[in-house]
Amino acid sequence: MTDVDVIVLGAGMVGISTALHLLDRGRSVALIDRREPAEETSYGNAGLIQSEAVIPYALPHDIKAILGVLTDTSTAARMHWKALPKIAPWLIAYARQSTKGAIARTAAANVPLVRRALPEHKSLLERADATDHLRGGGYIRIYRTGAEMEHTIKVDEMVRERYGVPFEVWDRDRLRKEEPFLSNSLAGAIHMTEPMSVDDPSEVGKAYAALFQSEGGRFIKGDAMTLVQDGTGWRVTGADGPVAAKDVVVALGPWSGDLLDAFGVHVPLGVKRGYHMHYSVMGNAVLNHLFVDEANGFVLTPNKRGYRLTTGAEFTSRDAPPTPVQLERAEPKARALFPLGDRLQPTPWMGARPSLPDLLPMIGKVPRLPGLWANFGHHHLGFTLGPATGRLLAEMITGEATYTDPSPYRVDRRFR
Ligand SMILES: Cc1cc2nc3c(=O)[nH]c(=O)nc-3n(C[C@H](O)[C@H](O)[C@H](O)COP(=O)(O)OP(=O)(O)OC[C@H]3O[C@@H](n4cnc5c(N)ncnc54)[C@H](O)[C@@H]3O)c2cc1C
Repeated sequence: MTDVDVIVLGAGMVGISTALHLLDRGRSVALIDRREPAEETSYGNAGLIQSEAVIPYALPHDIKAILGVLTDTSTAARMHWKALPKIAPWLIAYARQSTKGAIARTAAANVPLVRRALPEHKSLLERADATDHLRGGGYIRIYRTGAEMEHTIKVDEMVRERYGVPFEVWDRDRLRKEEPFLSNSLAGAIHMTEPMSVDDPSEVGKAYAALFQSEGGRFIKGDAMTLVQDGTGWRVTGADGPVAAKDVVVALGPWSGDLLDAFGVHVPLGVKRGYHMHYSVMGNAVLNHLFVDEANGFVLTPNKRGYRLTTGAEFTSRDAPPTPVQLERAEPKARALFPLGDRLQPTPWMGARPSLPDLLPMIGKVPRLPGLWANFGHHHLGFTLGPATGRLLAEMITGEATYTDPSPYRVDRRFR
């Protein structure tokens, strides 16, 4: 039997970061996963540390976006109608959280977390000797028409005024100067100046996991679903036998709801699936900034493994077979903007953004189950927020003063 203070279930960016913060506070920690660290959702994301991401990705209200989903012509969002009976309760709750008032509540609760994102990553990258992965320079959102861009600038001005998020507007000439290989048909771009990105989010996750182990943490292969209550604590079966602890953290990303269901706690955790593909580039083309094509919901980023194109939201059940239709739609649009070459992998990667209806994570005690803690539901921002929410939960578990009021993220909150 291995005895530790805390078991962390799930070695994605969220679980690894939580485990590190607990270790830093003098707790003995076992990090458990059925795979190697950072090989699921934390493997294939765009690697953007979105320190500016205050406003949540609410369900769209504009007719064009809605029609695109209804007619299945949208690249940004796609619905599996067959899955609708299963995901309808979550979708309805998500729609209820997409009102102006709810968006403002989520935005206010996002501020302390996103502000903490970069400092926490920088500190872990340094300790893990992995700062080579980090890239500055922000990112850009590109626009095909002046009207589209003007509309977004108004929103960005409001966000700057209310939440202090800086940005620059690049007209056609400035964009051409900064990104000579991007199509000159574009009207311009909005440059988000502060965010940073990494060239391989999985390698960063693995570097943090290696740091955890080098500082005395134990990484153990095992199935989280073997978790049982054991006297006043908890026990899970690891590859080399049982592991016991007084406290357990559920950081299973999109699988977190399965574990809580087994203990009679039902949380409205849905998923927004997404895909990626890597490409070579033609000739000597380079992209100096990661770019987001908001109209089509995809991101193109220079990654260690090639130019990584990640897609928008696919609404279906987590375990439905992959249907990379949005990638097929995004690819020609990306090629029209930037000279991509061959595909560099045989099949697209797929991941599932674990999403609660208000697009805030659940961080804190699981009601009625002493010693069980939650840290999941990081939606579009799990790479960004893992280290920041890991710190918050570690402060809660160890009884320290928390850097922000954790109540907006509590597990038993109501989704009005
Ligand atoms: C296409 C796409 C692009 C994205 N881009 C960005 C971005 O640029 N920036 C950003 O901040 N976020 C981005 N995200 C979101 C981000 O990837 C996720 O929010 C984040 O990875 C979630 O991390 P996690 O640790 O909660 O979950 P995961 O990384 O999925 O980790 C959960 C772990 O639990 C383990 N597990 C599950 N079940 C069991 C079990 N029974 N037993 C043992 N282990 C188990 C899994 O093996 C896995 O390792 C993107 C997501 C997608 C899909």
